[in-house]
Amino acid sequence: MNAPLTPQAALAADALAPRRVFNFSPGPSTMPQSVLEQAAAEMLDYRGCGVSVLEMSHRSAAFEDILARAEQDLRDLLAIPAAFKVLFMQGGAIGQNAIVPMNLVARRPGRAIDVVVTGEWSRKSWTEAQRYGDVALAASTLGAAHDHIPDPAGWALRQDASYVHLCSNETVHGVEFQTLPDLRALGSEAPLVVDASSNIASRTIDWTRAALVFAGAQKNLGPSGITVVIVREDLLGHALPTCPSVFDYRVTAEQRSMLNTPPTYPIYLLGLMLQWLKGEGGVPAIEQRNRAKSDRLYAAIDGSGGFYRNPVAPADRSRMNVPFVMPSEALTDRFVAEAEAAGLSSLRGHKSVGGLRASIYNAMPEAGVEALVAFMHDFQRRHG
Ligand SMILES: *Cc1c(COP(=O)(O)O)cnc(C)c1O
Repeated sequence: MNAPLTPQAALAADALAPRRVFNFSPGPSTMPQSVLEQAAAEMLDYRGCGVSVLEMSHRSAAFEDILARAEQDLRDLLAIPAAFKVLFMQGGAIGQNAIVPMNLVARRPGRAIDVVVTGEWSRKSWTEAQRYGDVALAASTLGAAHDHIPDPAGWALRQDASYVHLCSNETVHGVEFQTLPDLRALGSEAPLVVDASSNIASRTIDWTRAALVFAGAQKNLGPSGITVVIVREDLLGHALPTCPSVFDYRVTAEQRSMLNTPPTYPIYLLGLMLQWLKGEGGVPAIEQRNRAKSDRLYAAIDGSGGFYRNPVAPADRSRMNVPFVMPSEALTDRFVAEAEAAGLSSLRGHKSVGGLRASIYNAMPEAGVEALVAFMHDFQRRHG
């Protein structure tokens, strides 16, 4: 038993206790406190190895185990079929905007790439792909402020496309595909490539529809510096001759993501995040919680009589990134400053769209959303 603290000692201990805020950052983003505590506890001596994960060889048995476990946990959580490879790569999701075409564009002689642009991130993918193939917009909301998902029934899909690209959740604009399109039902045999950086592991994935899913980890899966690629086996082996070996999916799969030194510590943290997610009941459980969290926040916005507004079509609203605007720039600045002081951090919207944005990924507890909603009510009462 600890001796009771003197008032002075209690004050000193309190001053040393970490001050944790509710962090609504779009990425890198909040992580569960238990994950950070475990990483801290294992920092100096990883499970009796006498070294930190930061210091150990990627060829060591301990790291081999970390890597194998991370892959297996991801397979379990996302119900990834055996016909898909799981790759851990570097270069982020933006790197994949080039790495995907370098690996897939030569599947068909016409080098056709069909892209669906629904926001900032798919727009970036569309632009980068133009360096590698004959790129066409299958559909876009470029003229509509990216406020909805265009009905797949109206998409212009080319018969000979090497692949079709979409972004399942637009982190900046807050639009999300609630289901992935069934390309075969739309008359296309092309594989569907999905940038799921900001909603991976927040909901289930239909693997009969997606052929390649990639995601930078720093939104829903942990730290930056590691990119997860889940790719159907038949898409391997088509890389352009100029594709760097380290970005060639077939080589990466053959080398079990260790052609070069992988980002060992981010992979370790990713593994801790996946184990946390399993402990929370897995993806179906977290999906339910994410729906409750986002429903709560959208109800607060829609119920504010126009003081807070979200421009996205209700059926296409993101459960991960909730952008909203206020009546004036001055009120927006005031909201951000007062929220920050109240322990609600990083609520400013992306510079390209302004306003506010609450990113409420898997690791954002329901209490964080409750605190934000209470703050919004109070702010409106004082300034509305
Ligand atoms: C954050 C994000 C990216 C960019 O990821 P990087 O790791 O910075 O390359 C790409 N796509 C989406 C959907 C994102 O949310």
